Amino acid sequence: MKYLKLSGLEPLIVTPESNFINVGERTNVAGSKKFLRLIKEEKFAEALDIARHQVEGGAQILDVNFDDGLIDGKASMTKFLNLIASEPDIARIPIMIDSSKWEILEAGLQVAQGKCVVNSISLKGGEEEFIKQAKAIKRYGAAVIVMAFDEVGQADNFERRIEISKRSYDILVNQLGFPAEDIIFDLNIFPVATGMEEHRKNAVDFIEATKWVRKNLPYVSVSGGVSNVSFSFRGNDTVREAMHSVFLYHAIQAGMNMGIVNPAMLEVYDEINKELLELVEDVILDKREDATERLLEYSEKHKSIKKEKNEDLEWRSQPLQERITHALVKGIDRFIEEDVEEARRHAEKPLHVIENNLMAGMGVVGDLFGSGKMFLPQVVKSARVMKKAVAYLQPFIEAEKDGAKPANGKILMATVKGDVHDIGKNIVSVVLGCNNYEIVDLGVMVPAEKIIQTAIEEKVDVIGLSGLITPSLDEMVYIASELERQKLNFPLLIGGATTSKAHTAVKIDLKYKNAVVHVNDASRAVNVVSSLLGDRNKEYRDNLKSDYSDFREKFLNRQVDKEYVSIEEARENKCKIDWENEDIFIPNQLGVQVFQNQDLNELVPFIDWSPFFRSWDLHGKYPDILEDEIVGAQAQELFKDAQVILKKILDEKLLTAKAVFGIFKANSNETDDILIFDETDKEQARFLTLRQQAQRSKGKEYLALSDFIAPQYSGKSDYMGAFCVTTGFGTDELAEKYEKANDDYNAIMVKALADRFAEAYAEFLHKKVRTEYWGYTVQESLSNEELIAEKYKGIRPAPGYPACPDHLEKKTIWNLLKVEENIGVYLTESLAMFPTASVSGYYLGSPHAKYFGLGKITEDQLKEYAERRGCTVQEARRWLSPNLTE
Ligand code: SAH
Repeated sequence: MKYLKLSGLEPLIVTPESNFINVGERTNVAGSKKFLRLIKEEKFAEALDIARHQVEGGAQILDVNFDDGLIDGKASMTKFLNLIASEPDIARIPIMIDSSKWEILEAGLQVAQGKCVVNSISLKGGEEEFIKQAKAIKRYGAAVIVMAFDEVGQADNFERRIEISKRSYDILVNQLGFPAEDIIFDLNIFPVATGMEEHRKNAVDFIEATKWVRKNLPYVSVSGGVSNVSFSFRGNDTVREAMHSVFLYHAIQAGMNMGIVNPAMLEVYDEINKELLELVEDVILDKREDATERLLEYSEKHKSIKKEKNEDLEWRSQPLQERITHALVKGIDRFIEEDVEEARRHAEKPLHVIENNLMAGMGVVGDLFGSGKMFLPQVVKSARVMKKAVAYLQPFIEAEKDGAKPANGKILMATVKGDVHDIGKNIVSVVLGCNNYEIVDLGVMVPAEKIIQTAIEEKVDVIGLSGLITPSLDEMVYIASELERQKLNFPLLIGGATTSKAHTAVKIDLKYKNAVVHVNDASRAVNVVSSLLGDRNKEYRDNLKSDYSDFREKFLNRQVDKEYVSIEEARENKCKIDWENEDIFIPNQLGVQVFQNQDLNELVPFIDWSPFFRSWDLHGKYPDILEDEIVGAQAQELFKDAQVILKKILDEKLLTAKAVFGIFKANSNETDDILIFDETDKEQARFLTLRQQAQRSKGKEYLALSDFIAPQYSGKSDYMGAFCVTTGFGTDELAEKYEKANDDYNAIMVKALADRFAEAYAEFLHKKVRTEYWGYTVQESLSNEELIAEKYKGIRPAPGYPACPDHLEKKTIWNLLKVEENIGVYLTESLAMFPTASVSGYYLGSPHAKYFGLGKITEDQLKEYAERRGCTVQEARRWLSPNLTE
């Protein structure tokens, strides 16, 4: 068959079975003000982020356009497409090179990778030009959009549309031999309901012409820009969204298979208010003389209601199932018990309400999430409604002793031994739970034995392991080998911040004959689990196995052209500071200080919100994310919900913030240790640092953190600090309250906010140290943004992070500051801090100090390091290996 085949790094084949192909247009200077601004300011990196968002948001083709008087279109096109080519997550999808200027189109054709689409050519400038351009496009091997436009003008009725498309088709296909399947007609979508008589049939004509073209011009596609159709209702998004959905509904049936649609401006067809639906259908299909007037009237009347959206209760008058689905999709729990009760009275058995009514609604949620039309926070809110409904039904189900579990399968979820982080795990549990999987959640710090024993006793179908800090990686390897030793066959899901496909393939998969799969985002978890347990699971599991083994082979054989210099050579090339002439600031105050009850209100301005959104799978920088074209609305809603909990935490003082820090006399020695002295110059503690060894170009430094502290031989006293802050006390209690009330959404919210407070406290305290306690910076007027970008003098590296990957160093900090005695934060066996919302690290005040990544080191340094630490090489390797193998 002849199909339209496009490609970026991956193919996009448009078959009759394909769903509507969604073209992203935010990388079009006419489609996005922000993009226009970024290009004008030559901020190409940020412009790339827009492209990435489009891809993440589900765009299948990327429309790229630089037609603006103030932009050098040709240069921008070349530069932008080249940049895209080096970003595999963007370059995945095909490009649509969009311009009204041939020279820009051709510039794009020269650099675009894969098979792209040219947007557009037409008969506007006569046949000769049309033929010349078409031939060139054919030679470049691209597909083409042909506008319904000729020498006379743009086609604006049914007859003109078919006349021009037929003529274009004949020239292209019959005369030039252009592949018909590579032709996409843009049949011009124009506004309806403008008040002009001649615009009334604009949508109908488009739809009819689409039908004609698909029938009479074999193999071609039909496309268009959908938002045009609702142009006259700018300012009323409810009406516009409904118009887009209705228009698409009919146009797609007629054969439109591609187009530019903003998914945020699309209401789910079945969710459109019935009255509005009828009015919009009348307008789009031109069914009544007064259709426009009636829709205008509705629009006027409902403008104000849209503003107080929460009070829009029209959906309450819909039939029962619609109401239940609506409540689940929108995450509204206010009426769910009432609706469920009504369903229960009509149902044969209470269990059927779950199996039929609720699961039908959750099915819609799953589809919307799966197709990128709903985002994670919304899904977690849907789950809250679901839980509330199930909780209501539970007593009835038990009364009937109708114990059968309505589950697709049973999943054990646990954060591994020694680790305390569970936001990601909880989110995945909620998402799986609302897809009708039964979750056995063992919580945090769960030993391998307990995981395995529970899996056997509860006869679970899958085990999900989660962990955030590097030592957890080893624990996961151990669990896999234990499962293998005991000849068990639970498939393993691996997730959490430090996990990776590489580690999973190279370290875990190898230890276990059964399926192991790395799943790092909640939206994939459902697909993975359903494949693991589905009818064709054998095939799926086999594929997983061979995929991971291929991956492992490639990974292990990859070109690591890394060479290492000896530790001696590295030390000779340390960061050279002229200590002789270096001014060392004497701290205002030495020794340890403790704060038992820091006012949380003071920390709020120091919060870095971007990671908060990230923890909910919404990616982007705050505050821009609130205006983001795709996730903006969702980000705003999430942020608003966060403020409610934040205020509650502040008003009721629900979390306690504590800190301990100290500033000490310090010197480095020849072997990269940092010696800490008390007032009598007696050594009080010793921090061990590691030095980079991966070969660098000549003249480059090989860094260790000790470089930033004056060496003993300089004869000068230097200084160093250490700290631990926590805002975690109270978190679990509060989260548990919400969990008990079946409110996972706010339980997760509490934990995410506690983490934010801890980071904010670290920032706040660091500032106090710089400006007061140590005092080397007298004047510092940095905005919150500049603080987040760490634009200040000095750093606060954290053990476990790239410059100092050894978590064992935390023990030294704990001893030196008496952290546990002073503020109650303790270290787990994997050296995670508990309470979870805690941050610790060193303070280095030198203006030369900077962050870096240690990278791999040689066995020689490892051996020496073990000696310095007084432990075995095996033990040193155990704490360092997860960082050093990647
Ligand atoms: N504003 C962020 C701050 C945390 S990430 C938030 O709210 O989440 C930045 C911190 O990570 C630094 O302050 C430092 O403690 C640590 N860090 C970053 N890079 C590091 C490196 N290369 N080595 C050691 N620590 C590092």
